[in-house]
Amino acid sequence: MTDPRITDLPALIEGLPPGNRAPAERILATSATNGRLDPPEGMRSWIEKSFGSVDAVTEQRIVKVTNRITLEGTLFNELRASRPLDTGVSLDLDSEIAATEGDPFCRPEEGTPADVFGRISGEHATTASNIAKYDGFHGVVVFDDHNPLHLTPEKVSNYVSVGLEWCRKALEADPEAKYPFLMWNCLWRAGGSIIHGHAQVTATRDAHYPKVELLRRAAAGYRSEHGSDYFGDLHQVHDALGLGVPAEDGVRAFASLTPVKEKELVVIGGDPGDAALHRTVGALLQGFVRDLGARAFNVAFYMPPLAPADEDWSGFPTVVHIVDRGDPANRTSDIGAMELYAAPVVASDPFRVAEVLRDGPPS
Ligand SMILES: [Zn+2]
Repeated sequence: MTDPRITDLPALIEGLPPGNRAPAERILATSATNGRLDPPEGMRSWIEKSFGSVDAVTEQRIVKVTNRITLEGTLFNELRASRPLDTGVSLDLDSEIAATEGDPFCRPEEGTPADVFGRISGEHATTASNIAKYDGFHGVVVFDDHNPLHLTPEKVSNYVSVGLEWCRKALEADPEAKYPFLMWNCLWRAGGSIIHGHAQVTATRDAHYPKVELLRRAAAGYRSEHGSDYFGDLHQVHDALGLGVPAEDGVRAFASLTPVKEKELVVIGGDPGDAALHRTVGALLQGFVRDLGARAFNVAFYMPPLAPADEDWSGFPTVVHIVDRGDPANRTSDIGAMELYAAPVVASDPFRVAEVLRDGPPS
């Protein structure tokens, strides 16, 4: 049997055993189409050089996947991974990162403000108060490592623990600031304005951020309509198709069929404070950097509120998203009007992403 490909997804779902096919068809809408074109003779050698063959371009398969429950959706076209890009100057990333050593985050005690409740310090990170805030509480988890790519599961686990302790301190300072959010924008292409390794934490009042609340509502609607746990079914469908990736006990992880952009992983854990969840995220990030070549990436933790709320959060797990934002040397943005207003267009095949994280890079 040949390796499964994202372009075969409609057939792969049809071939699932009934117990997996039913939730797959409940959650996912898939359709495939072919894009065709007719190149002039004079373009053929350039196409062959750029895309491998003329046939690859004259008929290209595109698969659209929509999550019917959350209305997340993605267009996959593998050919776009090999399209020529005007990438600007090439760049030695390691030396670019090293050149900024000695920045304020290298000495957070003097170079950054503290929060009103002080700083949280852990084995590999210490917190600062963000100087221009997203929200009433907005902190920075400043890593001891200047280079954000020198990550290990243990270090990442500590970054997350320190961030969650910050959220608890924010709640003590303001009992209404009960909705926590933890994020990591790694390098400028992922929205990080400072190169030195850092994650960010916020705590918001009144209601969770709209995208988190939207997921809560979608999962609650699914449970009342189908009598089944949305997150459990979502993982089951991905796992049955061969998209599961390694995770510690009690944690589930997979390469998403509706990625927001390249190589997106979803990790589902129980309590946000679970160390096995933190280590799983760290191990997957290590694979993301080492085996999948990610350099600029985003991480986001969706978590239920830390204190009772009016709306029903029962059964809502911790959901972590990890996404590759492309080559930091590339001058073309990875998002445009399609991503902002229609649906993300993605070149990486989730089946290859899962395979590399399970078995390592192809030798
Ligand atoms: Zn630094």
